[in-house]
Amino acid sequence: MTAVPAHVHRLLAALRAAGHEAYPVGGCVRDSLLGKEPADWDLCTGALPGEVERVLAGYRIIETGVRHGTVTALTEGGPVEITTFRTDGDYRDNRHPEQVRFVAKVEEDLARRDFTVNAMALGPDGAVIDPFGGRADLAAGIIRCVGEPTRRFREDGLRILRALRFAARLDFAVEPATAQSVLENRALLENIAAERVFSELRGLLTGPGAGRVLLGFAPVVFQVIPELAPAAGFDQKNPHHIHDVWTHTALAVDAAPPEPVLRLTMLLHDVAKPETFFADERGVGHFYGHAERGAEMADAILRRLRCDNAARERVCLLIQNHAIQPPQTKKAMRRLLAKVGVEAVRQLLDCWRADCADRVNAILAADTPWETLIGTAERILEELLAEPAPCFGVGSMAVNGRDILALGAAEGPAVGRVLGALLDEVLDGALENRRDGLLARARQLLEEDCNRPGRGV
Ligand code: ATP
Ligand code: MG
Repeated sequence: MTAVPAHVHRLLAALRAAGHEAYPVGGCVRDSLLGKEPADWDLCTGALPGEVERVLAGYRIIETGVRHGTVTALTEGGPVEITTFRTDGDYRDNRHPEQVRFVAKVEEDLARRDFTVNAMALGPDGAVIDPFGGRADLAAGIIRCVGEPTRRFREDGLRILRALRFAARLDFAVEPATAQSVLENRALLENIAAERVFSELRGLLTGPGAGRVLLGFAPVVFQVIPELAPAAGFDQKNPHHIHDVWTHTALAVDAAPPEPVLRLTMLLHDVAKPETFFADERGVGHFYGHAERGAEMADAILRRLRCDNAARERVCLLIQNHAIQPPQTKKAMRRLLAKVGVEAVRQLLDCWRADCADRVNAILAADTPWETLIGTAERILEELLAEPAPCFGVGSMAVNGRDILALGAAEGPAVGRVLGALLDEVLDGALENRRDGLLARARQLLEEDCNRPGRGV
């Protein structure tokens, strides 16, 4: 079990010295029993928020949610949330409790929590307060609702996705009655704010059990992203693709590094395949334009889910480029780098690898295996980046607009034309990214530009 850190221990000691019960609770207890370092330590206490503020007068306190019993103490070890024991009142809209009621006993507070593994508190002597069998479920790797699943999901529909998020993150199974209720009550997710849905979905996707959860609970995923539903069971009729689109999607998610942008990309990369399907005269399936159309659909989906702009734009860029062949020449790689940038090319390498994880190459013996093509592209990328003055855009060229003006060009479009032409030649490998050579070529270009009819420099 991970030890309670000193800054948390001091808060507990202060509250207990003033005669109040106080315990680490929830995620930190779960994670420390698993031997993991908790992300943050939440405390629960019998003291009312005002009492907590008085006892911790030496700390800076933020009144995070006093109405719900929560204050945050700013300690030398970081912020710590302290919440008064409470039960949640009615959840008339499946979202927010109408009112909370402060209660005297920690067990009552634990009873309002979502899953048994999240409903434990840590006593002063290291004893675990565990009224719902959380430790046994932790040992067995099980996500189980505290109490009757359907009642708990009706109280708060977000718990449906939280169950799947914890199952994916901890790589746990969902207990059968909880699992059945998750599936049956998935429509309750309609009442939940998109931001909260997205945050749980992102957590789910980046867990080690993501693919298994996506396959086991597909209807829940389709509830929040209906655009993916046609992928289920969709036969690609293509010798490279042995799985239906949804199975392939889940396998590709698992095969990608556990990072939100890459996992979201793999979740949505083939979203347009059913829509763009076309069978040729031999009955072989093709999906012309599915990458471009997929990027458009992903853009709409991620906007609806309130994904942040940077992640949304990157996911769409990766989806748009996921079906191109990995560049096999320096020239092609320079072009791709100029188009998307170094970071996105590295991400594309990860996406290509994830995408071909269950692809069958052996059937068409003439094909170079994708893994070889990707390996070659990666080697070329590293070679290019190791060159003395790598250049994949006007910004990294060894000459700039001022240099062109100094050669006698007039201010205006000619400068951009010359820079663009130089960049083209550098990307093609016809010209090195060296100042002297670029200036000499610029002089020639300016002369040509000058001599062209109707285009004085
Ligand atoms: P993480 O490490 O991902 O933060 P966590 O268990 O700390 O996991 P939080 O969302 O931070 O998860 O919630 C803290 C605790 O509050 C949970 O462990 C659980 O006991 C309780 N909790 C949070 N959200 C809910 C909810 N919607 N319904 C019931 N209990 C909840
Ligand atoms: Mg937490």
